[in-house]
Amino acid sequence: VPRVVIIGAGIVGCSVADELTERGWTDVTVVEQGPLFTTGGSSSHAPGLVFRTNASRTLTEFGDYTVRKFRDLSLDGKPCFRPVGGLELATTQERWDDLRRKSGLAASWGIRSELLSADDCTELWPTVDGEQIFGGLYTPDDGLATALRAGEAQARRASGRGAVFLAHHTVLDIERRNGRVSAVVTDHGAVPADIVVSAAGFWGPTIGRMVDVDIPLLPMAHQYAKTTQLPELVGLNDEHTEARRPILRHQDADLYFREHVDRLGIGSYAHRPMPVDLDDLAADPSSAMPSMLTFTDADFDPSWQESLRLLPGLADTKLDEGFNGVMSFTSDGMPLIGESRDVPGFWMAEAVWVTHSAGVAKALAEWLVDGRPSTDLHECDLHRFEPVQRDPQYVRQRATDAFVEVYDVVHPLQPAEHPRPLRTSPFYPRQQELGAFFLEAGGWERPHWYESNAASVDELTLPERGDWASRYWSPIAAAEAEATRNRVALYDMTPLKRLEIRGPGALEFLQRMTTGQMNRKPGAVGYTLLLDEAGGIRSDVTVARLGDDVFQAGVNGALDLDWLQQHLPADGSVAIRDITTGTCCVGVWGPSARALVQPLTTEDFSHEGFGFFKARHANIAGVPVTAMRVSYVGELGWEIYADADVGLRLWDSLWEAGEHLGVTAAGRSAFNSLRLEKGYRAWGTDMTAEHHPYEAGVGFAVRMTKGDFVGRSALDNLAAQPTGRKLVPLVFDHPEHVVMGKEPVYHEGVPVGYVTSAAYGYTLRASIAYAWIDSNWTDPGTQVHVEYFGQAYPASVATEPLFDPEMTRIRR
Ligand code: FAD
Repeated sequence: VPRVVIIGAGIVGCSVADELTERGWTDVTVVEQGPLFTTGGSSSHAPGLVFRTNASRTLTEFGDYTVRKFRDLSLDGKPCFRPVGGLELATTQERWDDLRRKSGLAASWGIRSELLSADDCTELWPTVDGEQIFGGLYTPDDGLATALRAGEAQARRASGRGAVFLAHHTVLDIERRNGRVSAVVTDHGAVPADIVVSAAGFWGPTIGRMVDVDIPLLPMAHQYAKTTQLPELVGLNDEHTEARRPILRHQDADLYFREHVDRLGIGSYAHRPMPVDLDDLAADPSSAMPSMLTFTDADFDPSWQESLRLLPGLADTKLDEGFNGVMSFTSDGMPLIGESRDVPGFWMAEAVWVTHSAGVAKALAEWLVDGRPSTDLHECDLHRFEPVQRDPQYVRQRATDAFVEVYDVVHPLQPAEHPRPLRTSPFYPRQQELGAFFLEAGGWERPHWYESNAASVDELTLPERGDWASRYWSPIAAAEAEATRNRVALYDMTPLKRLEIRGPGALEFLQRMTTGQMNRKPGAVGYTLLLDEAGGIRSDVTVARLGDDVFQAGVNGALDLDWLQQHLPADGSVAIRDITTGTCCVGVWGPSARALVQPLTTEDFSHEGFGFFKARHANIAGVPVTAMRVSYVGELGWEIYADADVGLRLWDSLWEAGEHLGVTAAGRSAFNSLRLEKGYRAWGTDMTAEHHPYEAGVGFAVRMTKGDFVGRSALDNLAAQPTGRKLVPLVFDHPEHVVMGKEPVYHEGVPVGYVTSAAYGYTLRASIAYAWIDSNWTDPGTQVHVEYFGQAYPASVATEPLFDPEMTRIRR
């Protein structure tokens, strides 16, 4: 059993100790600079509101696990969780709409919820002025975690299994032997360690510096205050009950509330962002509660006024005590979980709320002990960031924005506002000239449609879609889809990550890592999967063999690069290079793609000369390129790769040559519709490591006959086992019923699944979606309904692919 040292005895450190020892890893030492268990960290004063429902299914699952765990925990007879319920109020129509949407999210992720009228809300919370609200979303199983108690209760269980908790041990350094962690050095000596878990909360960056690892989080102050006694609460609660009414959110004013016996606690995110400098904090070692900074009244004043407006009864009270509490923010609002690649054995679980603490700890413990978390962690994985996204200035800017937006109504397509533009493809100047509407992903500017195509929209008849589905959308996407199906369009594919995998061991390496047959002649391209040991889909990738020892892979992002690098053979026979930034890619797709490209090259681009799923080097209009005959939109055409410096010339040449064919620049909005019509999955949205290939409908990409590969042995069993769910296409009865993804699916009123991707299919003239559904209800023709903003949209399960099942459009 490895020796584990956990840094920090906050809620996360205690929870990790419990989860590890429960799994038999009992050689655990928790070192804490403060006293136990009121350590002085964020957990020491966390008011402990647990609202589980989140756009992230993973975070919702973490929250749900925390509730289930804490509900059964007590410390000396006192509970660690109070299931008082949660109530989110709407004081604007926009919020009210959003709560209806959120009740759908809750249903998708299996959280009980109910929309309440204003009267029902004031019945639960008589202090609330019913005149001000439209209604609320009630989640009866949410509630209050007592973080300190829950931490200590978990620590006791861990201690009972052998874990040791050391108070007043400040970590000063982390020792390494042969690059790996070997000991944690404290002011009372060194503690040997095979694995170090940094659960240091917002101190994470300080701990990271000890091993030269940048931790991309920003400590920020967040205000919390308590009122004096509120007369109407007197006699309602006692020291034992503490609170009875639901925890309350007034997100239109960035506020939340809870009872503290006969007083009210008010938390605010309405104030200016207040980043905290860890060096300043460290300069005051005398502070018993370093995470509690002096309350700045003026910052809180607007929140107090707003509290008085919503809860007029507060007029009988005053603000009694408040503080600026320090907590962590990240650039995307998600936690940081995983092991450093530079310092093996150095793990972390940081930027974690009390709400998610037990769920995160369980996932981390599974990862350490079993080698794999049972929950999809791609949104939380430490290695999800692109290099520019780890830049301290980027982290600071985005984390500050994340603080400001924490309670905003956020559209699923809403892009980051700063820093932009950050990454642009060589085609960017032309995209701007064509009036591209850009959204951002991975730091890249990505055109979603081009205003220059607006004139073509008139001829098209499109159903009215609702306001929400119309945001970050334009009918121009229909014109671009039409151009792709009937003429030819250029798509900027530059932002999709490309790796070059090279060396004498490259073939063997890829054979081991992927589900496909890689041992084919140079020039072959394949769609294949990266599985984990349990057969879960880590990614789907396109691999081209460009030479005996040279492959190019189109992958899904930084996590794929990380995954492949982790598995590289130690003998140096394989090298992986991320060639994304030095190259560019344009997709030329549509029935006229060949007529466009062929005159620009001496290579044979005929169907016979350049078959489907083949790749070759060529020169196009004087630019050396690699062309691959693949298509994510289901049309004839090529992805054409070139070095970035000649990218603009490539684009211009294609554009000029295509003018007589009606070439059109097309964006992601059309792209998403076209790929859904073809049933092409998007990893991370439609499927993750929680799914295996057969239920996700990508079993065709598995070649069991090719020999061993990562995940193969697990697939033997999975193929034979019926699974309880399947990813299937839905077609809505009414074309105007366009949804966005993550909505719940019902069969005869019973929830049976949730939508992953959705779009209006411009070619099919139907609204379509993909959804994970209980396999009892996945037969084609099964009638279901999708709940959208509280409305039932009828749909039926369809047979895939919805468009061109014979592939005649691609193979010609
Ligand atoms: P911490 O509790 O900070 O624990 C980290 C520990 O590491 C500390 O005890 C620290 O002393 C120790 N440590 C650091 N450096 C060293 C070192 N060098 N050597 C030894 N030990 C070290 N979350 C919710 O879910 N719901 C809420 O309602 C909520 N309200 C909040 C209100 C406020 C005002 C604030 C500030 C935060 C709130 N949060 C809430 C967030 C939540 O409190 C934190 O996310 C959570 O407590 C973090 O837990 P942790 O264990 O990671 O960190």
